[in-house]
Amino acid sequence: MSERRTAPPTSAQVADMLRAVIDPELGDNIVDLGMAGEPIVDPNGLVTIPIKLTIKGCPLRAQIKKDIESRVETHPGVTKVKIEWGEMTADERTAVMTRARWNAREQAGDTAVPNSARVLAIASGKGGVGKSSVTVNLAAAIAAKGFVVGVLDADIWGFSIPRMLGISDRLEAQRVEGTDKPKIIPNERKVGSGLLKVVSTGMLVEDEGTALMWRGLMLTKAVEQFLNDVHWGQLDYLLIDMPPGTGDVQMGLARMLPRTDLIIVTTPATSAQKVAIRAADMARRSFLRVAGVIENMSSFTCEHGTEYPLFGSGGGEALANEIGAELLGCIPIENAVAAGSDSGNPVAIDGTGEAAREFAKIANSIIESTVSNESLAGCSARTPEAVAVQVKTRV
Ligand code: ADP
Repeated sequence: MSERRTAPPTSAQVADMLRAVIDPELGDNIVDLGMAGEPIVDPNGLVTIPIKLTIKGCPLRAQIKKDIESRVETHPGVTKVKIEWGEMTADERTAVMTRARWNAREQAGDTAVPNSARVLAIASGKGGVGKSSVTVNLAAAIAAKGFVVGVLDADIWGFSIPRMLGISDRLEAQRVEGTDKPKIIPNERKVGSGLLKVVSTGMLVEDEGTALMWRGLMLTKAVEQFLNDVHWGQLDYLLIDMPPGTGDVQMGLARMLPRTDLIIVTTPATSAQKVAIRAADMARRSFLRVAGVIENMSSFTCEHGTEYPLFGSGGGEALANEIGAELLGCIPIENAVAAGSDSGNPVAIDGTGEAAREFAKIANSIIESTVSNESLAGCSARTPEAVAVQVKTRV
């Protein structure tokens, strides 16, 4: 007497089972993420499932395998599950990251930062590479084009933004219409037809000694507070001066403002470039897009016109190539940059030298690359595919 076996599931039914398998890092199921290919089911109940991992050595491989087996093998018509492992192409990886970013955006809570503002976090692998100088000058150069630019100084251990912009007034809180508790009012400075709105974590601590005791988590909380409790009002851009090297703030930002783009500042030295790669790697893991690399302290040109690459050369370009991002520009070493920061008048505001020109050029390319927010806001455009197209042009 032949034993009656349950019929094997169809390929579509297996795909449905796979929709229950979630990649915990990417926050979505393996079918919609494009990781699972079409399952092949043979009449004897053998199910072959092609799975493409984002990278070959993906640490989640074992877990994904277990999840697939436990979902599919329990079907009475399945005799065996065979997984064919593969690796995604660069294009496929980009599409997956775009989708993961989209999911993160959908899940993020509200902040006081208006949705229309493009958020750029300025990061570096280590201190002293000129990250704060780049932040203030870039903010000033963008504001000079007529935009409202928020500057959040999250570099608690080296807070210098208020001094560099000549705005060191204490922050005040005020009751704002439509809110139930007082909001922190940023300090403002006009630049041409634009405006800078500045808040600094440095304004939260008594002195730099106190700042040294701050832990990453405390800092993340402070940044969270600035994002939630500052009355930013109208804002076209928000530039965040990140603390060097710490992952906590970056992870917090990725959770609260997943649309944040990272700009990585490095010097031309290869040692700086190596540490900067870590910042880029962290960005990838938290799905933040790297908008580009800025090389600072590129070279020094003496009064006779001879150029000296004091800190080596090519580090910015090498980093940009390595992480697949654009080299946005190279800022030379100029006394005017340091003097401008010391006097509270960034060189980008009224400087005439090469550094000022380079900051203006980078500001232009950032403005040009900013996705038109209207194209993201309309209801019909709020599909992952439409966003994917928009974002892909910027990945
Ligand atoms: P970070 O924020 O990375 O710690 P800073 O922006 O505070 O670095 O810069 C460190 C020092 O280098 C400051 O004294 C600053 O004025 C100086 N500096 C930064 N960039 C330049 C430049 N392109 N030319 C000359 N001096 C610079």
